[in-house]
Amino acid sequence: MRTMIIAGNWKMYKDLHETKELVTALKAAMPSLPGNVQSVLCPPYTSLALAGEMLKGSPFLLGAQNMSQHDEGAYTGEVSAKMLKATGCTFVILGHSERRQYFGETNELVNAKARKALAAGLRPIICVGETLAEREAGVMAQIITTQIKGVLAGISPHEMPNCVIAYEPVWAIGTGRTATPQQAQEVHQLIRKLIAQQYDWALAERITIQYGGSVKPDNAAEILAQNDVDGALVGGACLKADSFSAIIKAAQA
Ligand code: PEP
Repeated sequence: MRTMIIAGNWKMYKDLHETKELVTALKAAMPSLPGNVQSVLCPPYTSLALAGEMLKGSPFLLGAQNMSQHDEGAYTGEVSAKMLKATGCTFVILGHSERRQYFGETNELVNAKARKALAAGLRPIICVGETLAEREAGVMAQIITTQIKGVLAGISPHEMPNCVIAYEPVWAIGTGRTATPQQAQEVHQLIRKLIAQQYDWALAERITIQYGGSVKPDNAAEILAQNDVDGALVGGACLKADSFSAIIKAAQA
């Protein structure tokens, strides 16, 4: 059975004081997690060290929302994989559609970052997803195929099990509009098939593929019950302990 991974993308929310409040509330709400479930908190860079300290001994793991493709150097404003690891991060979200849309990130750049993360021992959560215009134009499968091939280029079969893929239809992020469970399953199945073509079926069956896009406590169970949906990347609903913990509970097999 694949591990369900429920990750919370805090985006640009929560200063240090608010981070302390949310982490305290989450630890109280979820002193342990269901056996088949992992949960990753991804606060902003400025809160990573604090959250990392607070999460020691808790069931929650720590992740970042982005990182540099470089090891170190004169790259003002950037943060390296090594720096993330020092705060306690074990995961990093890469290629989120907001990074692609507002910061010009391409599949090639996301691939470079993913390879750097893997080399440093971080597990990348690599995001893919089509826009509404692409879905309506009937090119969703082509877009997903290009993205998956691009972001996974050169990642070895040995490294691949450490990758998590997040399918996030851009039209469902922060819009309150969720893909139906059937729409999510269809794309997750496609992604698993693409991974099998690039590697093999045994490996593809091991990969956690998360769904992201307006996952809330009231729709989580139905989406997570789909065969190829192995977790969720949660935005808005991860900012409150009660809604995020309800989604984690919905992931229990
Ligand atoms: C996200 O930011 O990855 C996301 C899925 O956001 P939301 O849950 O708010 O749609």
